[in-house]
Amino acid sequence: MIYLDNAATTRMSDKVANAMRKYMVEDYYNPSAIYENAYKCMKVVENSKEIIAGAINCSSDEIYITSGGTESDNWVLKGVANAYKDKGNHIIVSKIEHHAILNTCKYLEEMGYDVTYLNVDENGCVNLNELKSAIKKETILISIMYANNEVGTLQPIEQIGQIAKRYNILFHTDAVQAFGHIPIDVNRLNIDMLSASSHKFGGPKGVGFLYVKNGLKMKPLIHGGSQENGMRGGTTNVSGIVGMAEAIKDSMINMRARMAYEIRLRDYMINRILREIPFCKLNGDRFKRLPNNINIGFKNVEGHSIIALLSDEEICASTGSACSSGDNDASHVLKAMRIQKDFLQGAVRFTISHENTKGEIDIVVNKLKEIIYKLRENVI
Ligand SMILES: *Cc1c(COP(=O)(O)O)cnc(C)c1O
Repeated sequence: MIYLDNAATTRMSDKVANAMRKYMVEDYYNPSAIYENAYKCMKVVENSKEIIAGAINCSSDEIYITSGGTESDNWVLKGVANAYKDKGNHIIVSKIEHHAILNTCKYLEEMGYDVTYLNVDENGCVNLNELKSAIKKETILISIMYANNEVGTLQPIEQIGQIAKRYNILFHTDAVQAFGHIPIDVNRLNIDMLSASSHKFGGPKGVGFLYVKNGLKMKPLIHGGSQENGMRGGTTNVSGIVGMAEAIKDSMINMRARMAYEIRLRDYMINRILREIPFCKLNGDRFKRLPNNINIGFKNVEGHSIIALLSDEEICASTGSACSSGDNDASHVLKAMRIQKDFLQGAVRFTISHENTKGEIDIVVNKLKEIIYKLRENVI
């Protein structure tokens, strides 16, 4: 099996799984309890938060554990909307956000909030002038993703942070695809809030975090016990947090080397496909893109058919976001990028990891050539 769908989820290493196991079968205590064993679990959680905080250059009391990217995104939008409703009711996002953001915005619109959806250019990048002119005196939040999950385009986060700071507006970024893969410094980038999800960088599913800069007003999304400083109730997911921190340690130590390796493989795959398969093009920015993302549009072919035939060869890839595969509607990301009609249905996303090899890429490209040829032969 060749797995090229690391944007959907990643494999957990034995090291991470073993670190988690200890906190399920041995030290399984509730860290809110007051006996010695529970206290040790609480210390482990605190230590894990130090590791998370260190990875984005913030302090550990600015890290809130959540159930993943979807919850973090929901929390930011609803929490800020709620806490700042006296200041205003306007939120700015892009048209290519994940559905965790877009559908939460839809909900807020039903609640009477005003949302501006910024356009993107043909490479999937937001325009800073359009952002500036969208700002009103009622604007309370700008939420722009760090890297797009379908086409891998990196947004001008540093410049967006500067604009937000100058206009005194909060800035959130959904960094679920970026965190653990490329370096992020929330301090240097003027990021007020950031969402991340453990299973996108080698950790367990169902756990993630939200960074919230100290001093901001924020309302809880999940009401309950006093966990997470009273900001997010629910018994602490000790093994999940330990697994997430272990995966972060691994990512941080190996980041430069993994990035360089993935970029080499990515570019090798892109170049081979574009050179050897006619009528296809790269979706997303050639250079401002995630090290692991290869998204190719094949003219007049169905992406779903390509995925099915690749699957017969035990190759895992995707048409776009995991959430949209299954329905036949064209991707909202590609539509926002104004991809030509005859390329719109034929997008395939390959997302590699440091565990893939050049040999695997060669097998995939060779199979892909045959598959595209066969599909087009049937069409013509
Ligand atoms: C996967 C993903 C999410 C959702 O994260 P979960 O932890 O799976 O809920 C949100 N945003 C982006 C950009 C993603 O890729």
